[in-house]
Amino acid sequence: MRWRDVLCGEVRPEHVGERLALAGWVDTRRDHGGLVFVDLRDRSGLCQLVVNPERAPEAFAAAHTVRNEFVLRTEGEVVRRSPENVNPDLATGEVELQVDRLEIVSRCPPLPFQLDEEGVDETLRLRYRWLDLRRPRMQRNIRLRARLVSTIRRVMEGDGFLDIQTPILFKPTPEGARDFVVPSRLQPGRFFALPQSPQILKQLLVIGGFDRYYQIAICFRDEDLRADRVQEITQLDVEMAFPDQEYLFALMERMCAEVWQECDKEAIETPFLRMTHAEAQARYGSDKPDLRFELEIEDATEATRGSEFGVFANAPCVRFLRVPQAFSRAELQRLEELAKEWGAKGLAYLVFDEEGDVRSPIAKFLAEDELALFRSEPGSTVLFAADEPATAARVLGALRLHLGRELGLVDEGSWRFVWITDFPMFERDEEEGRWTAVHHPFTRPAPGGEELVASDPGAATALAYDLVVNGIEIGGGSFRIHEPELQGAVFGALQLSEEEQRRKFGFLLDALSMGAPPHGGIAFGIERMLMALGREPNLRDMIAFPKNQAGVDPMSGAPSEVEQEQLRELGIQLRVRQD
Ligand code: ASP
Repeated sequence: MRWRDVLCGEVRPEHVGERLALAGWVDTRRDHGGLVFVDLRDRSGLCQLVVNPERAPEAFAAAHTVRNEFVLRTEGEVVRRSPENVNPDLATGEVELQVDRLEIVSRCPPLPFQLDEEGVDETLRLRYRWLDLRRPRMQRNIRLRARLVSTIRRVMEGDGFLDIQTPILFKPTPEGARDFVVPSRLQPGRFFALPQSPQILKQLLVIGGFDRYYQIAICFRDEDLRADRVQEITQLDVEMAFPDQEYLFALMERMCAEVWQECDKEAIETPFLRMTHAEAQARYGSDKPDLRFELEIEDATEATRGSEFGVFANAPCVRFLRVPQAFSRAELQRLEELAKEWGAKGLAYLVFDEEGDVRSPIAKFLAEDELALFRSEPGSTVLFAADEPATAARVLGALRLHLGRELGLVDEGSWRFVWITDFPMFERDEEEGRWTAVHHPFTRPAPGGEELVASDPGAATALAYDLVVNGIEIGGGSFRIHEPELQGAVFGALQLSEEEQRRKFGFLLDALSMGAPPHGGIAFGIERMLMALGREPNLRDMIAFPKNQAGVDPMSGAPSEVEQEQLRELGIQLRVRQD
């Protein structure tokens, strides 16, 4: 017996008169005018079955008992629908199957949620993920993912990159998150760490003579979860020896262009724009600027040095946004509250009303030339941040995004890619009073900046880059340190003692001392790319079996308890009670 001759969504007028078998899920059943109508669904779409008691009494009896999500196999004759019953929204809408046989293959109890229901609680969806995955949106997302990965492989392999697997049980690889650890039974009291990325391993592969490596790698980061963060991410991981930034950027642009063509049918423009980190911070208040709208931040630090308005004159920096809307007092108050949440002390403003008159409590303190600088179109508002540069950037950057969305300035249909380059090497962790790596500790300083690593870490620029699309950071990488001395100096700047350096990274330092070629690479977040491509706000919807926001899999109940015996073997005693 053949289960099916064609897929449900493939039945067309050219099949009229043919006898076909179909198999799939009941999408809906309707009883109407003495007939039973069933929409039968598979991955390709729907086909309408008509069950007529006179033509097929047994099938009719069976059809009466079917419910949504039963699995059926049916045979019948393809007929043309009468003109008034044609459904132009359905690929199979001109035809239907007059059923002769209908077999219930599998049953299904009343559903915990309807597949076409909107806004179903996420935990419920995850609990019954196999049902959730049948929804058209999830079908689309997971298929999109497969197409994306297959396109990436084609491009990378076309350029001679070799797919090499790296271990999951490994040692901590610092990417700035917490490690997941796995106890070792054979080495009691010792733990593996799941890699936060294959960073060190890919460097070792290149040092090992595989001069073009790639992998679709799973990375484990024990982070608090958000809509755009999960603990298990997948990335396109790339490394090459003797790297050339122009080649690497062009290859990644080609990869993106092919992916967008394949997954979005959209031709994107290459080469992508480039912007330094400093410029992105100054103009957009972000290291992942959304360039789908303008609303750029402007600087007035110099112009206000001698201002009578002390807040401006004494601030380390004064920056502003010209917003094309004259805000009311209530709106300004709300914006000020937001600005305070983002770290501002207040929000000074100048409103230019429809007549071009200025409305503002600070206008009287500003000299003519200052006012002239800020003067904007009638019907606009100038919003100020007078603060440390980092705070001014953060506040205005967040306001810019908020207003861009709120005022409908974002060109939703466009794709705006931008490389961000020249990141700083280090940033200060004020709480711990020490420097941390902005990218990761294996990133090399820009040529000529090697000395700064020890003498003035805050001034050192890294050979690191990110790729951003529509305000989403989809990729990031760097050129690496291949000299053991320089690597030691960077570890030193990060306050790793010699002993710690040996213990944690001795194997890397040894490898660097044994003929390491210059190398560099990049990694792209597969889920982030999918989120952008699928215009999906929730990263978990791009993963077949994600954990929920509490880091739990509601379907299997993982993480779960283990037997006392297992713990004993591992030499582990729990201090938290297992309920
Ligand atoms: N290992 C980095 C990351 O996972 C990427 C890279 O530097 O290639 O973000």
